[in-house]
Amino acid sequence: MLILGLTGGIGAGKSTVSAELARLGAEIIDADKIAREVVAPGTPGLDMLAAEFGEEIIGADGTLDRAALAERAFVSQERTAALNSITHPLIGERTVERFAQAPQDAIVVHDVPLLIEGGMEPGYHLVLVVDTPEELRLQRLVELRGLTEADARGRIAKQATDEQRHASADILLDNSGSELALLEQVRKVWDRRLVVMANNLEHRHPV
Ligand code: ATP
Repeated sequence: MLILGLTGGIGAGKSTVSAELARLGAEIIDADKIAREVVAPGTPGLDMLAAEFGEEIIGADGTLDRAALAERAFVSQERTAALNSITHPLIGERTVERFAQAPQDAIVVHDVPLLIEGGMEPGYHLVLVVDTPEELRLQRLVELRGLTEADARGRIAKQATDEQRHASADILLDNSGSELALLEQVRKVWDRRLVVMANNLEHRHPV
């Protein structure tokens, strides 16, 4: 199994890259999706959050009201730690399950927006970084995602810098051009995966 970590700043193009890798045959483990699954309606995770933060965090439709949770959880370090102590183990367990379910000869891509912020690089054979200049990400988030410029800038400021990502990347995917140009780079990496495996497997540690 070759375990690749995929990351990049908000709006960099991670979903675009992981969709292409999935099409080529990689197994994708999406950290954001797992984080949503563990607190989906009817899960023990959602019950644990309600016990800690109050029933008001569950909306009328039974789903997690993220804004209500944020109001209660992000008031202090202690309350944030309480939230993380519920969600992090659940996310960790499910992630390990997903890795265990992948075929032994799979190329597994773990898509983790905060991979570098979380110091997770040693868990992967290779770290792929989607590299998109900050101003371009800002423009895409505003034009394509409908975020306000202030909101987009605020989110970017909370993440690692482009320089930090460059320092952690084994493979940089440049997404300052067209989407087609990005996909072409993904296909090149995929075509070279056996060489990449042979060169890197012995000096990295799997998750
Ligand atoms: P998030 O951090 O929010 O999960 P992401 O890193 O997964 O974002 P994408 O959703 O893949 O990023 O891309 C962000 C937006 O930019 C999308 O609307 C996508 O279609 C668009 N996009 C990605 N690459 C390009 C490109 N090269 N040219 C133009 N638009 C692009």
